[in-house]
Amino acid sequence: MGGTMPPERLPLVAGNWKMNFDHLEATYFIQKLAWTLRDSHFDSHRCEISIMPSFTSLRSVQVLVEADHLPLSYGAQSVSVTTQGAFTGDVSADMLARLGCEYVIVGHSERRKYHPEDDANIVDQVRAVLAAGMHPILCVGESFEERRQGIALDFAVGQVTDVTRDLSDEQTSNILIAYEPVWAIGTGMVATPESAQEAAGAMRENIRSAFDDSVSAAVRILYGGSVTSRNAAQLIEQPDIDGFLVGGASLDVDEFASIARITEKFVRRLGRH
Ligand code: PEP
Repeated sequence: MGGTMPPERLPLVAGNWKMNFDHLEATYFIQKLAWTLRDSHFDSHRCEISIMPSFTSLRSVQVLVEADHLPLSYGAQSVSVTTQGAFTGDVSADMLARLGCEYVIVGHSERRKYHPEDDANIVDQVRAVLAAGMHPILCVGESFEERRQGIALDFAVGQVTDVTRDLSDEQTSNILIAYEPVWAIGTGMVATPESAQEAAGAMRENIRSAFDDSVSAAVRILYGGSVTSRNAAQLIEQPDIDGFLVGGASLDVDEFASIARITEKFVRRLGRH
């Protein structure tokens, strides 16, 4: 499977704030996060940190990050599949790119559940994000039912195949995958490091057989689902896990910074980058 991580696979710790924090709270959080990381001599060349706030906070986050040259990236939690026009309430990929967004979460299980986001729509979102020069963080993962039926791995890997099937090598290299078992999201039940590695490894292998080796070596695969500072170390040690998509724990500055430090320390220990 993955083995050694090539230099371009910089680990990413991404915070999915979901529908939490207004723009004032977001500003305060980002400032405090930046101070906390600076005080602990965090090295952003060894681990990237990204925040996905609500649309309403993006401009404030942009201004802060740019004005203070903060070593953080940011992104959005969803995007419209269309570029402009009569789509009340939608936000286009170009609008997000203009705000300096690096990433857009696509296909989060909460979006799949509460909005009409089916596979075709998710493919279109991925294409829209790529066309605007950003990176989609494609969320996949089995539900408890698929796990009970013993088809978890096939299901999650199949979701990746369904989305990447018609993409080019270059497009696929620019995607990040977040393996997020639905039963682990917000439940406190985290996947074992072995099962998270099994899924991430199978996804990378699948990409390797569909595209070429350099594509599978470039794609960053994150784990998401009840990640905390207590379980992050064992997960990041897995060769095909390149970081985390963090929900609940990303709302607490100290906890989120701890997860980032654990990830950075692991990379430092291995002498990567
Ligand atoms: C998420 O929503 O992407 C997530 C992983 O949530 P949590 O960390 O709270 O399980």
